[in-house]
Amino acid sequence: MKIKILVLGGGTGGLVAANKIKKLLGNDVEVTLVDKNAYHEFMPAYPWVALGMREPDQIRRPFSNLEKRGINFIQATVESIDPANNKVKTSVGDITYDYLIVSLGVEPMPLPVKENYAPWSLEGALNLREAIKKFKGGKVVVGVSSLYYPCPPAPFEVAGQIEFALKVKGIRGKSMIEVFHFHPLPLAPMGPVIAGKIMEILKSKNITFHGSFEPIAFENGKVKAKDGREIEYDLLVLVPSFAPNKVVRESPLAGPNGFPEVDKITFRSIRFPNVFVIGDVVNGSLMLPPAGVVAHFQGEYVAGVIVSDLKGAYIGEPFNPVAMCIMDFGDNAILPQCSFDKVLAGTGMPSCGVMAVGKWVRIAKILFEGFWFATLIE
Ligand SMILES: Cc1cc2nc3c(=O)[nH]c(=O)nc-3n(C[C@H](O)[C@H](O)[C@H](O)COP(=O)(O)OP(=O)(O)OC[C@H]3O[C@@H](n4cnc5c(N)ncnc54)[C@H](O)[C@@H]3O)c2cc1C
Repeated sequence: MKIKILVLGGGTGGLVAANKIKKLLGNDVEVTLVDKNAYHEFMPAYPWVALGMREPDQIRRPFSNLEKRGINFIQATVESIDPANNKVKTSVGDITYDYLIVSLGVEPMPLPVKENYAPWSLEGALNLREAIKKFKGGKVVVGVSSLYYPCPPAPFEVAGQIEFALKVKGIRGKSMIEVFHFHPLPLAPMGPVIAGKIMEILKSKNITFHGSFEPIAFENGKVKAKDGREIEYDLLVLVPSFAPNKVVRESPLAGPNGFPEVDKITFRSIRFPNVFVIGDVVNGSLMLPPAGVVAHFQGEYVAGVIVSDLKGAYIGEPFNPVAMCIMDFGDNAILPQCSFDKVLAGTGMPSCGVMAVGKWVRIAKILFEGFWFATLIE
């Protein structure tokens, strides 16, 4: 009988894990991926949709493509996880497994404002595109509702891309762009080198940064901070706050703080050894950033851990706890990188640096998008 591997979530972590395990074990395993959506979306390209560089169909691929790779796809909503009985309840019935990989991501909390212009979803990206089309000049403000959202660098990228778009539209002279964030400097936890470089880029684009800004109220076209500061806006791009996926939060995998409890070396559930949890849904509790690159490396790594379980001896790629993100500012780009080895070991802070800066760095992001689809879902 084939070993049944069930993957919940076809985002970054789940898609990588399903592909890797099928590649490593071929016909010895039956790999099934469950997602509520029919399409895998490449989230780093949402801002490109907002700015008209991509149409939705260019940044997504149907999960049905996975059948060509020998991976079964079931479109269904996961309703609950029953790890004591190796079973998952979904909208189309129960599914049993021998091994379970959970990569269900995070989910947005309701926004404190009416309109969602944040390209943290395809819907938000398309709303922002419409708003920019109608924008005739004024003040655009980009900010975050909380510290917990996927891709910490993305708000700065989005502000940079909007700045460039307004230049192209010919209304930059009539517009102001400002960014607010809880941190005192952009990406402050990554250290002064990265923060300094991003500040330099924002200044070169005449984008004002408001640091240590904790928003508490949004009224009459103004956002008010806890310390009394106020910023007026004509167009507000507010990144929602996110929480670990509800199904996981409410499952026996979760600990008291709502995050699933896993071994820090293998991402194996501490109570259910045939269950692994990776990606944004768990990384907040491991002090790892909610970033696709981390979910990607975890996906490859847990596939190897399962192969090791099944074959007795298999040393795959070691988990590489690095986060890197090409920040595309429209007419400039930067590639910051951080290693989280010391963070995972509990011995120190992330060690970070800037790997590259310049217009050409944008090309690497565009090439990566093509590589992503070609190697995983085409
Ligand atoms: C604007 C933006 C830009 C970004 N840029 C970068 C970048 O440049 N570099 C980088 O490293 N990261 C980037 N990221 C972050 C990256 O996309 C995420 O960190 C990554 O996708 C997380 O992977 P995951 O597998 O944990 O979750 P996700 O990719 O969010 O996948 C979760 C999947 O689970 C499915 N799902 C959820 N609940 C259920 C349910 N109940 N039933 C069935 N299916 C369900 C969802 O449909 C989804 O497909 C960016 C994110 C955004 C929003």
